[in-house]
Amino acid sequence: YKYKKELKEKNLLQNELNSIMDIVDDFTLISIADADGKIVHVSKAFERLTGYTKDELIGKTHSLLRDPQTSEKFYEEMWKTIKSGKVFEFDNLKNLTKSKEVYYVKGKIYPIKDSDGNISGYLAIRENITPFKKMSEIANIDELSGFYNRRYMLEVVKKELAYIKRNGGALFFAIYDIDNFKLYNDNYGHHKGDSVIQSVSRAIKFVCKRESDYLFRLGGEEFGILARVDSLEHTKSFAKKLVKAVFDLQLRHEYNKPYGVVTISLGAVGCEVTKGADIRFEKIYKMADEMMYMVKSKTKNDAYVKICQA
Ligand code: GH3
Ligand code: MG
Ligand code: MG
Repeated sequence: YKYKKELKEKNLLQNELNSIMDIVDDFTLISIADADGKIVHVSKAFERLTGYTKDELIGKTHSLLRDPQTSEKFYEEMWKTIKSGKVFEFDNLKNLTKSKEVYYVKGKIYPIKDSDGNISGYLAIRENITPFKKMSEIANIDELSGFYNRRYMLEVVKKELAYIKRNGGALFFAIYDIDNFKLYNDNYGHHKGDSVIQSVSRAIKFVCKRESDYLFRLGGEEFGILARVDSLEHTKSFAKKLVKAVFDLQLRHEYNKPYGVVTISLGAVGCEVTKGADIRFEKIYKMADEMMYMVKSKTKNDAYVKICQA
């Protein structure tokens, strides 16, 4: 009888545990991979988020979800960490669902060890931070241009500089300003001036379309661009391309002599950063600003780039 009672209690406990596991499965974003990174288990919540079914995921690697813009370095660092038996923590990781929709996650990857202490697989647990991300981004977007505001620039800069200090790499920062814009407003009206800001912004956005390209409205008719670049080789041509993109809009502005159309002046800095370098944004900003004013005082409708190392 005692044995029967124990068995009954054990079954009850097992049933409870099972239903708890069902709830966990339904709500937590879990995936487990073998030592080679091949997926062996995913939770229901993970299927829902990614749009893939269990069957489509099992046997594949997580690179199925990878966003092409995420750097190789990120994954190299991840593998290095977990292969050494340490927990890898990530934040703000951009992934793509089956239908190529973007989502952002933060979470941890835990190496799973067998009784001999060898790594037999990895468990990843994550949180979907997409809704929070969208909210904080939307609050910092300037309506007219669709670009981020100056306040948000300082946040982005902090993160990007921390990243580049850690990994090394090259950075592009530019400031541009619309030429003789006061004359435009005075002659064509503020309303038309606003649509010029929109058109110019669209043209710039069309050139800077990588996920890691950040566009800012610094105030009035002054804008900033922050981008990661692979090398400094193309910075000059990239800067000139931006200026040309605005000129090519051919928006009539007969008071912007001698061009007769809306133009911008752009100053930029291309900076090669070695790991651990002491790099200050104020300096970069100042250099870009100085470059822009050189263009303003000469021909306008052009781009000057300063190349530096830190
Ligand atoms: P420069 O070529 O030296 O840049 O001359 P500028 O006339 O463009 O420069 P200035 O800084 O004197 O004038 C900027 C003008 O931009 C003043 C203001 O009327 C206009 N402006 C600033 N923000 C806005 C805006 O949101 N909408 C419109 N329509 N005009 C704006
Ligand atoms: Mg101006
Ligand atoms: Mg100005």
